[in-house]
Amino acid sequence: MPRVWNFSAGPAVLPLEVLEQVRDELLDWHGAGMGVMEMSHRGKAFTSIIESAEADLRELLEVPDSYRILFMQGGAIAENAIIPLNLLGDKHTADYVVTGSWSEKSFKEAKKYCNAHLAASSGPHFSGVPAPESWRLSTDSAYLFVCTNETIGGVEYAFDPDVAALGRPGLPVVADMSSHLLSKPVDVSKYDLIFGGAQKNIGPAGLTIVIVREELLDRALPICPSAFHYKTVAENGSMYNTPPTFAIYVAGLVFQWLKRNGGLAAMEQTNIRKAQLLYNYIDTSSGFYHNPIELISRSRMNVPFRLANEALNAEFLSQAQAANLHSLKGHKSVGGMRASIYNAMPLEGVQALVDFMQDFAREHG
Ligand code: PMP
Repeated sequence: MPRVWNFSAGPAVLPLEVLEQVRDELLDWHGAGMGVMEMSHRGKAFTSIIESAEADLRELLEVPDSYRILFMQGGAIAENAIIPLNLLGDKHTADYVVTGSWSEKSFKEAKKYCNAHLAASSGPHFSGVPAPESWRLSTDSAYLFVCTNETIGGVEYAFDPDVAALGRPGLPVVADMSSHLLSKPVDVSKYDLIFGGAQKNIGPAGLTIVIVREELLDRALPICPSAFHYKTVAENGSMYNTPPTFAIYVAGLVFQWLKRNGGLAAMEQTNIRKAQLLYNYIDTSSGFYHNPIELISRSRMNVPFRLANEALNAEFLSQAQAANLHSLKGHKSVGGMRASIYNAMPLEGVQALVDFMQDFAREHG
């Protein structure tokens, strides 16, 4: 079966083994006589699927018992509203650090619900993360919001935010980890709420993962919709409304695949090698290709790059496609190229990309 090297930013490549298992179980899950898509979410079979998925995710990320894992819908963009609705409590301000398009969107959305305060920004060029010493937190904010991997700009945090060092010990830290969750171990206890859409490293679109410290569940505004009220979702085991059952099932298979393959520490090692291979080549291409992000903040998951001669962009993309290398076009807001190299992209795929880039540079340099 012909499969391409798929560098899409999301929805993105999934592990072949997982897809094969989904195919094999599509019509009949474990002798149930029906597939997961057709099952009641309240039945025994699906209950076992969601419980295993949650337990495996908890194990992989070493999520402490004081955190709830929620399987929600609406994607990360919906969370931009759901978060202030759930966390503002009696406060009227929230701090945002803007490091690219996604955190900027979150910041703008929050303005509908509170005095969103720009604690720091690396704009307009977004070539890194502002030094923490420069962050200015409000005295009475409800939380600090960061996006720890900017999928469009390719900027990844190399540190966990430390609110105590910034003069606000105990301030809840909220992180959009959509595009690097499960790419490496994370010290969950350094955050109070972690969220992400599943369609990058985790599974199909339609599922949003929220990992939230239990004590934050009591701060929702009265107008918070019930389906997005963390406490209601938690109390109902992520089944207040019908959950995205098929997406949860596939995500659960991805969690098992991760466990079979050494967990997040092993993933991180492979991801480092993949990213080094690609960045090293870009940096030594004598300027034919270029990545503008400061070294320490370069994303291991999303690698944007530009050709010095942008007139070659269309030719680059069409030759890449012919060489089986797909979805390399950068986000429409920034142009250029972007290779997303999530967990399911093997080193071999990144090597194929580098080989192609080298040939293209030789031909056109
Ligand atoms: N945040 C980040 C970091 C993202 O990468 C994306 C999607 N590319 C979003 C938010 C928006 O996610 P969704 O489209 O699932 O709402």
